[in-house]
Amino acid sequence: MLDTVSVRADFPILAREENGKRLVYLDNAATSQKPRKVLDAIQHYYHFHNANVHRGAYTLAVEATEAYEAGRTAVAGFVNAWAREAVVFTRGTTESINLVASSWGRTNVQPGDRVVVTAMDHHSNIVPWQILCQEKGATLRMVEITEDGRIDLSDFGRALESKPKIVAFPYVSNSLGTVNPVAQLTRLAHAAGAVAVVDGAQAAPHLRVDVQAIDCDFFAFSGHKMLAPMGSGALIAKPALLEAMPPYHGGGEMIERVWDDHATWNKIPHKFEGGTPNVEAAVGLGAAIAYLEQLGMDRVAEHESALARVAIERLTQIESVTIYGPRDHRAGVVPFTYGDIHPHDLATILDRDGVCIRAGHHCTQPLMRRLGVAATARASFYIYNDVDDIDALVSALRKAGELFGVPA
Ligand code: PMP
Repeated sequence: MLDTVSVRADFPILAREENGKRLVYLDNAATSQKPRKVLDAIQHYYHFHNANVHRGAYTLAVEATEAYEAGRTAVAGFVNAWAREAVVFTRGTTESINLVASSWGRTNVQPGDRVVVTAMDHHSNIVPWQILCQEKGATLRMVEITEDGRIDLSDFGRALESKPKIVAFPYVSNSLGTVNPVAQLTRLAHAAGAVAVVDGAQAAPHLRVDVQAIDCDFFAFSGHKMLAPMGSGALIAKPALLEAMPPYHGGGEMIERVWDDHATWNKIPHKFEGGTPNVEAAVGLGAAIAYLEQLGMDRVAEHESALARVAIERLTQIESVTIYGPRDHRAGVVPFTYGDIHPHDLATILDRDGVCIRAGHHCTQPLMRRLGVAATARASFYIYNDVDDIDALVSALRKAGELFGVPA
């Protein structure tokens, strides 16, 4: 396990109290808290180096560009990207997937084609493909999940028989905690002639990602779930694909030459980064990666799965609690319901004890329909959580049970 006492000391927000209680932050799948090193890096950038990036002829602008591009180098190393040019900065997972759907999708998907997603995908890995399919007269096929919350590999195989152009799936489910066999899914997608799009939103913060080992074509993630600022993130893509793709946004910086009636494009990845970029996001993301690498991603993953095991064990002891998702191959995400207490009521009551959990459909409505529930409560862990947090969760749940007269 990680030394959570020293990790917690790095996060100023964790010193605050909620209703006179220690803050127990268990909503990390939604967003993570930020360590002082990330906050300081952003402040340092604005204090000493801020200017608009690229094309600057003065020292400050050169420094700002270096800071921005250092963030790219950090991301490339963190996910073992094919090259620095394989990293396109975006606002996060949602924008990354929309970029692929708009650029690669619009160019390559024709009427009658198929796009495959899974029933455990987040709306941001479903809706962009629905929009694309509607525009192109293509069909979206959703692969089913098994009883124990995994991608149904037989149905995945059947979906590939129609030779889809695109196959998209999550590395880790935000609503079940399932860790999917992404290299295997990618191999199968390639054998069917499709490109593979991996939603890495719940993977990059929590486990060691190697896009070259997965061999996926596109990998999307969000910085704000991994200690970095809101509005940070990237799309990682095979450089040959990026070279062949048309731009996503037109504007400054993404061009090579602009004539009266047409333009030519900048080199990758700048072709996809029109307009003034979010430099502070790249700086913060670089600092977040340095922090995570210092802890070691294998230790981070071990820490969280150990917490998930303890949480599942303790929650199972509460009579009316139902836990969703598989028992193994899971990340630090524990979704549950408690008798007939509405998850929103549960989250509100837990807040009285300073325990922050999320309640709702978690942007996975097709999955909720398959689980036969409108909503679940979800506790999700990160590097600063420990067994004391699980104890706080369990004792707050027992109190809620008493309040609602649900067997505990
Ligand atoms: N995919 C998954 C699996 C997620 O958990 C999330 C965030 N809840 C997203 C995509 C979307 O990420 P963002 O809102 O940061 O773009």
